Amino acid sequence: MSFLRMEDLDLAGRRVLIREDFNVPVEAGTVTSDQRIVAALPTIELALEREAAVILMSHLGRPVEGEFDPKFSMAPVAECLAGHLGREVRLVSDWLDGVDVEPGQVVLCENVRFNAGEKKNDESLARRMAALCDIFVMDAFGTAHRAQASTEGVVRFAPVACAGPLLANELNALEQALDDPERPLLAIVGGAKVSTKLTVLEALLERTDQLIVGGGIANTFIAATGHEVGKSLYEPDLIDQAQRLIRLAHRKGGDIPIPKDLMVATEFAPDAPAYVRKLDEVQPNEMILDIGPLTSADYADIIWNAGTVLWNGPVGVFEFKHFAGGTRSVAEAIENSKAFSIAGGGDTLAAISQFDVAEGVSYISTGGGAFLEYVEGKKLPAVAMLEQRARDYNA
Ligand code: ADP
Ligand code: MG
Repeated sequence: MSFLRMEDLDLAGRRVLIREDFNVPVEAGTVTSDQRIVAALPTIELALEREAAVILMSHLGRPVEGEFDPKFSMAPVAECLAGHLGREVRLVSDWLDGVDVEPGQVVLCENVRFNAGEKKNDESLARRMAALCDIFVMDAFGTAHRAQASTEGVVRFAPVACAGPLLANELNALEQALDDPERPLLAIVGGAKVSTKLTVLEALLERTDQLIVGGGIANTFIAATGHEVGKSLYEPDLIDQAQRLIRLAHRKGGDIPIPKDLMVATEFAPDAPAYVRKLDEVQPNEMILDIGPLTSADYADIIWNAGTVLWNGPVGVFEFKHFAGGTRSVAEAIENSKAFSIAGGGDTLAAISQFDVAEGVSYISTGGGAFLEYVEGKKLPAVAMLEQRARDYNA
C-alpha cells in the first residue's frame, strides 16, 4: 500500500489534524472502556514529540446529525485522554472556522457528527475540516470503510494527507494475513447469520485453503446437508446459497466441514442445561447452541496445522456458560498455534477478552465493519483516497 506515513513527514510547527476512533462506551459522563483511547496514544505522543500543534477529531455514538446533544459530547473522552497524556486536552465546540492551538498543545474537537453533512460526505464540510490543518492524519481504521466528511472527504482536500501509525499497522497486518499469507490459510467464520456474512464467506472461499463455519451460520450449513436442526437459529432461505458454497469448496478440491457433534438445549436461556448430540441425533424440539467436544478437537487440529488463521465470529452462544466451550477451544487453539493469527468483529473481540487469549493472537483488528469489508476485498474509501493523494503528491 502506498500512501504517505505520518512518521515520514516533518511535523514541526505544523497544525496536524488527526482523525481518531474515539467511539468509546460512556456511562454517566465517564469512559467505561478506554481501549481505543489507549491505542491512539502512541500516534498523539509522536506528533507532540515532533513539535506539532495537535488537533483531534472523532465521532461518538449516533447523535441526530447537525444537533449538539450533551449525551454524545466528547467531554468524557477529553478528560480520559488528558489523564493518559498527563497534559491538558482542550475541548472545542465551535471548531469549523478555525482552532487556536500552539505546537506542543492538544485540542479535541467536539463530535464530528454534530455537523450537518458529515455522513453524506458533504464537500463544503470536508473542505472546512481540511482548512484547519497543514497535515491531515487518518488514524481511525474502524471508520475507513465509510466515505464521510471526516474520513474520506477531508483526506481529499487537506493540504497533505497521510496514514497514522495505528491505521498503517492495521493495514499491514491485514495485508500479511490475506495478500501474502503463510499457508495453509484458514478462515473461521462464525456468528449468528449467513445473511450478514454471505459476501465474506464467498470471498474467503476464494482466498483461503480451508474455511470453517460456526454458530448460527453452521446451522444453516447443517440444514443444507440434509440434517435436522430442530428449533436452532438458521436461515431456511439461504440453504441454496450454503449448498452453492459447499459445491464451490468441492470444486476447489476442499470442503466446508460439518460438525460431527453438537451441544444442544431445549430453551434459549443463560443457564439452560446442555446435552451432547451426534450430528444425526438432534431432536425437533432442540436447538444447536455450540459445537461438541469431538468437533472442537478437530477444529483445534486444523488451527494448529495452519500457517495463517483469520477469525471472525464465535462458533456458539459463548455468552451462555454451558455453550462457551467451542468458542473457548477455538480461541485457545489460536492462542497456542504458531500460525500468524488475525481476529476481528465486535463479539469476537468480546470472546477474546472473555477467554483471556489476546496475548496469543498476532493481531486484533479494531474495526468490525472495516475489517469485514477489507476481508471481502473491497477498497476502503479513506485508504483509496490516501493512495490517490500520495500519487498526486509524488507526481
Ligand atoms: P461478530 O460480532 O464477532 O462479527 P456476530 O455478530 O456475527 O459476530 O455473531 C455473534 C453472535 O452470534 C453471538 O451473540 C452469539 O451468541 C451468536 N451465536 C453464535 N452461535 C449461535 C447459535 N448456534 N445460535 C444462536 N446464536 C449464536
Ligand atoms: Mg456482532
